[in-house]
Amino acid sequence: MPGRNAIPLIPPTARARRRALRATPLPATTELTAPERQPQEPDLRRVIRCAACAASITSDDQAITVDNGHTHTFPNPHGLVFTIRCFATASGCSTHGAATPEFSWFVGYRWRIALCRECLAHLGWQYLGAGDAFFGLIAARLRSGTEPAST
Ligand SMILES: [Zn+2]
Repeated sequence: MPGRNAIPLIPPTARARRRALRATPLPATTELTAPERQPQEPDLRRVIRCAACAASITSDDQAITVDNGHTHTFPNPHGLVFTIRCFATASGCSTHGAATPEFSWFVGYRWRIALCRECLAHLGWQYLGAGDAFFGLIAARLRSGTEPAST
């Protein structure tokens, strides 16, 4: 679980947080899953599901790179560390609240909460920039699966 990382529970100031982010090397970037056809599964497409309820959230072909990585690990202001994966869209998410720039992990982007539409599990955040948007979804709250390509 992302919350179980033992790091000091001192709410960092924005400046200290930025310093920490600069000082902390990101883990090796997870390779994007190549959109290779699985010969044995010609009629299935790879999807990303909610780990809690298995609802379809997004798919591998929506995976994107943001700031040179698909996967990012960040601390939040409460000291919890999240590893997130970036997706262009996540139709299985509903977004909540007004977008805020506070403590945004991506420069120039505001964020709002993204929940699973089915079970309302907190799956991550939607990031809104000047002319674009993407989802940063918590890796540990997702799982890979397949579904018929026709749906
Ligand atoms: Zn769910």
